[in-house]
Amino acid sequence: MDVIHLLPDSVANQIAAGEVIQRPASCLKELVENSLDAGAKRIQVIVRDAGRTLLQVIDDGSGMSEMDARLAFERHATSKISQAQDLFTLRTMGFRGEALPSICAVSQVEMQTRRSEDEMGTLLEIHGSQVIRQEVCSCPVGTNIKVSNLFFNVPVRRKFLKSDQTELRNLLTEFYHIVLVYPKTAFTFVHNDEILLELPVGTEKQRIEAIFGNPKRNVYTSGFVDVKTDTELVSIRGFVIKPEAVTRKAEQYFFVNGRYMRHPYFLKAVQTAYSGMLPNDYQPSFFIYFDINPEAIDVNIHPTKTEIKFADEQTIFQILMASIREALGKFTLAPQIDFDTQGAIDIPLPTNERMVSRPMVGVDPTYNPFHTRNQYAPASVRNWESLYGATPSQPSNTIYPDELPTVPDALLLSEEHLDSCSMWQYKAKYILMPTEGGVLLINQHRAHITILYAQFLAQLAQTQGATQQLLFPEILSLQPDELVLFERIMPDLSAIGFDAEQLSPDSYSVQGIPAQLTSQSALPVLQHILQQVRERGANTQEEWRQQIALSLAETAAIPYGKVLTVDEMRDLVRKLMALPSFRRTPDGKIILSLLADEEINKRF
Ligand code: ADP
Ligand code: MG
Repeated sequence: MDVIHLLPDSVANQIAAGEVIQRPASCLKELVENSLDAGAKRIQVIVRDAGRTLLQVIDDGSGMSEMDARLAFERHATSKISQAQDLFTLRTMGFRGEALPSICAVSQVEMQTRRSEDEMGTLLEIHGSQVIRQEVCSCPVGTNIKVSNLFFNVPVRRKFLKSDQTELRNLLTEFYHIVLVYPKTAFTFVHNDEILLELPVGTEKQRIEAIFGNPKRNVYTSGFVDVKTDTELVSIRGFVIKPEAVTRKAEQYFFVNGRYMRHPYFLKAVQTAYSGMLPNDYQPSFFIYFDINPEAIDVNIHPTKTEIKFADEQTIFQILMASIREALGKFTLAPQIDFDTQGAIDIPLPTNERMVSRPMVGVDPTYNPFHTRNQYAPASVRNWESLYGATPSQPSNTIYPDELPTVPDALLLSEEHLDSCSMWQYKAKYILMPTEGGVLLINQHRAHITILYAQFLAQLAQTQGATQQLLFPEILSLQPDELVLFERIMPDLSAIGFDAEQLSPDSYSVQGIPAQLTSQSALPVLQHILQQVRERGANTQEEWRQQIALSLAETAAIPYGKVLTVDEMRDLVRKLMALPSFRRTPDGKIILSLLADEEINKRF
């Protein structure tokens, strides 16, 4: 007796449903994606009991003809691809023609649909793959599909569903994945008659804000920086969180060609870009949108389609990491986060002018501020003046009216005091320490920049920078003007630890970077150095060495948001105080401020 026979479609569909429709969330995803593929501008989602009893999606998309409405529920019926070749140029969300037959195999579906060119629409009712009713009806243009009693005929599946709370969360997660890439479509999400989300048409950023923004803190407008990179291989744009704005719960989203994806390898690229910038156990939030030739990705590796394989993942890893690094670097230098705009005691200085017009102070490695007070004070003043003293064109009293609001005595810290006094960290930004005259506030990031700057300068002078080899060499392509500059400063870059080899007349392969850099990425740092050297007109070796040292110090310095132990704070302060000039960064920003005792006393 022959034992092999073909399964009836209803059974085959139920089996397929096990793959495609695992829970209400997967059903919702398929329905909403269909609406988007149909060009809908407005989509309403109505849910009851976390999708157990009802999942309804109403759209104003293309609708279907009577024939198509019926065909849509047949297996592998799709309007989106017609030949295997089309799989490689996919731009729609669906393509398998599996969703509707799977859904109707495990639920009771009622659909009304009408195209704009038709007077009347079609009503179709299907229970467990059996067509119950098909008739002409009057309905708006678009499709309105109701999925009731999901898994009514698959008790095992029904039992596997989690609590309503969990299933609702799954529904929303799935919904976010979609709506975050379609800000030009309006959505509403209603659960048990309550409107949970009302998302008007807007920009991506507004959409993100509408979903995650905390109106009180406005996190999602102020806490993020833009990422944008266009290369021949891939375009990357999106938003990544500023290190200082990280929150306990990170929102991490990758999208490719309008589709959400999980990508552990690219996640690693983001994490690496942030390395050293976030407190322990914190993860960065990001919304990153990739655009890539569909031929370079394979979306077909899993039916739920969130894992996507890229043809050239290593290169994209590099590009992604570099663009985030660059975005974060820009942000570090951006004026809006500058402390100087916040404190009344500090006057922001025109950085460019200062950098160009005056050489920065060098480092005297033999100098020890702890010897005696007398020795200390004049040294400090001398250095101070060489750095910021008056020149005929810039009288000091107009540029530095607040010269040293800090009480000098408070800075005369003995080594014993430094060893024994208490220190606190405030907002993971400032170190607070009591001194004789009051409480000294130290900006941790700037303090560290200044310390590293001196170290880098010394290494440059002695040509003794250590190199860490990169995992993947990076290619630095240079414009003709950059090339000249690069070649000029090249010996100093090697001296500090960069390892680069000329590949072609206008490109270098970078294989190693200075060992102190926490980043694993060379290009953003080199680009920053080149930009600074050019913008600040550093024409002599001394000047460009200062720029190299400063760029590296800014890249490697402890960021805001980094929680420090008391020992780390003490070490930082000790190193800072050992510098001949420790009150301002090499580019003139205030590092220290004293909250004087009188000021404190006055308040009470
Ligand atoms: P796929 O989306 O993979 O093509 P589906 O089973 O999800 O497969 O849908 C089958 C077909 O039904 C689609 O190709 C499309 O032509 C049609 N369809 C489904 N939903 C809608 C909708 N909301 N509006 C218009 N057409 C739809
Ligand atoms: Mg579909």
